[in-house]
Amino acid sequence: MDIWEQLYTAAKPLYHPEEVNAFIYAHNVVCALQSKSGAIYTGFCIEGLCGTLNLCAERVALLNMYTTSGETEVQRIIAFRDAAPTGMGGMPCGVCRETLMEFSANNAQTEIMVDYAQRKTVTLGEIFPNWWGSVKTGEVRGE
Ligand SMILES: [Zn+2]
Repeated sequence: MDIWEQLYTAAKPLYHPEEVNAFIYAHNVVCALQSKSGAIYTGFCIEGLCGTLNLCAERVALLNMYTTSGETEVQRIIAFRDAAPTGMGGMPCGVCRETLMEFSANNAQTEIMVDYAQRKTVTLGEIFPNWWGSVKTGEVRGE
């Protein structure tokens, strides 16, 4: 079982879309990531009726990593709905891209699963170039 299968297997059981109550809908997108230390963390999306609460699975997994371990760097990440991503199905949204970069500019090297069957990945730096924070940190990585 390669690391991507380990990540997929870790996230898959979290997929069971449900209305938590009249305001919260959750578990309809799931995610697993591998931190710099090699540990695996998972998350699932949590959506609130008013919209401002919405948390993507990627950010929940990232916050799970950070609150559990204090780590800020992510080696690789996979997100999907009912099945592993194909095509560009696993791409993180802009807020998640920004959050990953703000936790560490080194996350420009984070591998993002694009096509699970083909094991095709892209780096965060490739899909989120010229990050504004590079000016602040003095570092431009992943380019
Ligand atoms: Zn997102």
